[in-house]
Amino acid sequence: MVKLADNALMVLKERYLQKGTSGSADETPEELFRRVARGIAAAERKWGGEKEVNNWTESFFEVMKRLAFLPNSPTLMNTGTVAGQLSACFVLPVVDSLESIFSTLKQAALIHQKGGGTGFNFSQLRPKGDPVYTSGGYASGPVSFMKIFDAASAHVKQGGKRSGANMGILNADHPDIEEFISAKKGLGNLQNFNISVGITDAFMKAVYGNAPWDLIHPNNRKVIKTLESGNLWNQIVENALLYGDPGLIFLDTIHSKNPTPGLGKINATNPCGEVPLMPYESCNLGSINLSKMTIGGSVDWFGLEKTIDIAIRFLDDVIEVNQYPNPKIRKITYRNRKIGLGVMGWAEMLIKLGIPYDTQEAVELASRLMHFIQEKSKASSRSLAMIRGPFPNWEKSIYYPNEPLRNATCTSIAPTGTISVIADTSSSIEPLFALAYQRMHVLNDDTLTTVNRQFLDYLYEHHHDVNSILESVFEKGTCDDITSLPTPIRSLFKTALEISPEWHLKHQVAFQRYTDNAVSKTINLPESASHNVVDELYKMAWEHKAKGITVFRNSPKGKKVLNLGVKG
Ligand code: ADP
Repeated sequence: MVKLADNALMVLKERYLQKGTSGSADETPEELFRRVARGIAAAERKWGGEKEVNNWTESFFEVMKRLAFLPNSPTLMNTGTVAGQLSACFVLPVVDSLESIFSTLKQAALIHQKGGGTGFNFSQLRPKGDPVYTSGGYASGPVSFMKIFDAASAHVKQGGKRSGANMGILNADHPDIEEFISAKKGLGNLQNFNISVGITDAFMKAVYGNAPWDLIHPNNRKVIKTLESGNLWNQIVENALLYGDPGLIFLDTIHSKNPTPGLGKINATNPCGEVPLMPYESCNLGSINLSKMTIGGSVDWFGLEKTIDIAIRFLDDVIEVNQYPNPKIRKITYRNRKIGLGVMGWAEMLIKLGIPYDTQEAVELASRLMHFIQEKSKASSRSLAMIRGPFPNWEKSIYYPNEPLRNATCTSIAPTGTISVIADTSSSIEPLFALAYQRMHVLNDDTLTTVNRQFLDYLYEHHHDVNSILESVFEKGTCDDITSLPTPIRSLFKTALEISPEWHLKHQVAFQRYTDNAVSKTINLPESASHNVVDELYKMAWEHKAKGITVFRNSPKGKKVLNLGVKG
């Protein structure tokens, strides 16, 4: 029997279990994991016999059933169904012609319909007010096209299962950058977009040196306007503080780690930022549940290694059985074979190990752990390459000739927004959001209620006045001011907003050091956070070679998906 938490069952029933003709769930969670395991292991037939297929079906089923590893949502929803699209992450090109813009919009709609998310860099579009010779009119500029993409996403509703997700990027030297930076201002603007400014090292140096900054026409490369770099930077910081957007993506850092620089530059990421991709590339993700990777108060390195090996094989198999939205996506995905293995349950693991999140010890373990995951992932990818061959663009990659790998990238830290609920653990590498909270349902207004299991276990084991402690925790979502709890416990169970933004960033940087793709991380800020805090964090992120950064201030104006605390 698969054992699942109530919240997990609710999510599965709503959107993941196959429905019968009556419209109600016709599949048990166990059958779901079987369907997925069998569908993915079918790829094994290409290199082995029926026995191989059966063996891997069992291994894949077993890791999912134990909630030790889960693939991204589209794989859980669509494997073995007519939808068949299994990747979460896509990047599409945006070229400066009406025909290609609307062709990209159509491709995005089809991707969304089956639960995938799309990222775009709009910087090739001519600026607002630029002449359009074919019509004799004037261009409306990148932001107005983003609004069209946004409206389309809102209507597609991801095949009834997900609301839309897009990443929109504009480079800091585009003439419309100021309009872009404040594009989220006002209720309801670009709700289906995360937006990020594409930042180069040259821009950061201009900001540090207080130098002028040229905005350049993307087609004829003429300087359209010159701004003070510091002023532009302050606009970015101010809007990020108020609206949680824009984030930054660091284009030169991404480029310096691009595994296939000979094929072209990477100028965009998927919606949550964890996968930088070239136009038409897609990537499928999966995450190891770290809360299942401890043994007797220590990291279970052996169990972790075994799970990594199965997970990498699973993700490589996904590429074979995946159905692609169009031939261009299929071709480049096959040629680079990017996959992204990441983690969830990091905060739960730290609690099991007795290490508070905001300590150097936690950050050091983060590096050590991710280093291990990266090394073992590469070892598994190398073993697959020996039998299946390296990824077809390998000879054009940074790995040629010394390291034949099956996959151009192996690791990526996704937000695990839904799969961590299914696995009943903390999301991604985030601290606990709250000890008790309500989660708003994605598609309707229902709320799911959760009290942290480890906290409850601790209370039942050590305290008599459990009810009164819980009452207080329900009220605030935290235990920091409950003086009847010992200080080390209050430190261990600190939640996202009680942890300073610098510690959030330190975890992101530690994981990024050993992640091929990128790390999706929300840097939580208290409502009282100032301009200077965001200014420093954004600069620190660049200095420490993060590939991007997003902040989220707990304020009424910011985006809000989780509510602290539960009343009653
Ligand atoms: P999950 O937990 O459902 O597997 P994540 O929260 O880890 O998903 O997100 C991983 C990626 O999946 C995102 O970066 C994005 O590319 C895609 N994604 C997430 N949410 C959506 C959504 N509502 N619509 C489309 N794609 C999404």
